[in-house]
Amino acid sequence: MSRKEIEEIKQKRLRHTLKYVYESSEFYRRKFNGIDFDKITPETISKLPFTTKQELRDAYPLKICCVPKGRIVRIQMSGGTTGQPVIVPYTRRDVEQWKEMMLRAFEIAGITQKDVIQITPAFGLWNGGFGFHFAADAINAFVIPIGAGNTRNQIRFMIDFGTTVLCATASYPMRIAEVAEELGIKPAELPVEKMLLGAEPWSDEMRNRIEETFEARTYDIPGLTEMGGVGTVGFECPLRRGLHMWEDNYIVEVVDPKTGEVLDEGEEGEIVYTAINREAMPLIRYRSGEISEIVSKERCECGIEHMTLRRIKGRTDDMIIHSGAKFYPSDVERILAGYGITQYKIEVGSKVRVLFEGDSRLISKIAKDFREFIGINPEIVALQKGALERFEGKAKRVVRTW
Ligand SMILES: [Zn+2]
Repeated sequence: MSRKEIEEIKQKRLRHTLKYVYESSEFYRRKFNGIDFDKITPETISKLPFTTKQELRDAYPLKICCVPKGRIVRIQMSGGTTGQPVIVPYTRRDVEQWKEMMLRAFEIAGITQKDVIQITPAFGLWNGGFGFHFAADAINAFVIPIGAGNTRNQIRFMIDFGTTVLCATASYPMRIAEVAEELGIKPAELPVEKMLLGAEPWSDEMRNRIEETFEARTYDIPGLTEMGGVGTVGFECPLRRGLHMWEDNYIVEVVDPKTGEVLDEGEEGEIVYTAINREAMPLIRYRSGEISEIVSKERCECGIEHMTLRRIKGRTDDMIIHSGAKFYPSDVERILAGYGITQYKIEVGSKVRVLFEGDSRLISKIAKDFREFIGINPEIVALQKGALERFEGKAKRVVRTW
């Protein structure tokens, strides 16, 4: 797709979507009240108001939905276990769009019908499992829809069925490695060649650990339930320049999380998405809470024309502010993974405490890195292997103790 084609399709789809949501959703009719929305272009989209997660919660169950209930084919859910859930409805066309975007990812990663694809995220209201499934099924690959948990069984299936592609949360591979070693199996001897990892921010240092441990190639797959689920918004550049965001399907802005002001390339802020190719609930200027920055809007050296975003660093609600320093759990992970540490916990209260499994002789080096790279001086505690809780889905690394 050329830049000209992308711009044309963006323009056309944005126009259509704005008119469509205005006509079919009371929520957007009220939101756009008094705004000349039919004059809005991708360049002037910042004139429209944001849509927030709180509004989605208040809209439970289907108050923002743009189609009659009879046209909904499924729902997925976002958010934790507490509070009002955020429900995302899909039409048949939305499921197709999900699949199409995921197929782009498969193509970039060179995943084909010959692959054996083991899908370890859960099959349920959380969108992970299904997103991978729709695309893997569409290419007639050998799909193992095993879902979350039971790591020993996951390893057994990898060996017995010759899994070549592993779909997982970013923290799961190192858990698999640990269990494999307990079973006397070298992770590098597992048949897995490629891993599509997402659902939580992961550092380049963690990537190096995973790739060395498994002798496999990893790909970062972003995705937000509110935008249709895993793999819908973009995929990692094969040259690892960042994430290519599918501009023919989403308009991506980065804004100052405090003021909401649109930021320039290279400025870190919160990602705001506008879905321009969805049907049941296309969200306009949705505040995602994800932190990143635009690397480039030019064509990438890999040949992909779509804009490049830096890999997601964290979420606004994960940010830790302590003694004047601001940081994300991924900053801590980056330092620890550099020493080969993959199991850790961050306790945040009146002070910050970092617990890790590993050699206590590393403490002084780690402390120095924390001071130098993050600007904090936490209490650091070394623990025995196996002392911290293990996770088979998204890892919970941060505990707030106030
Ligand atoms: Zn690229």
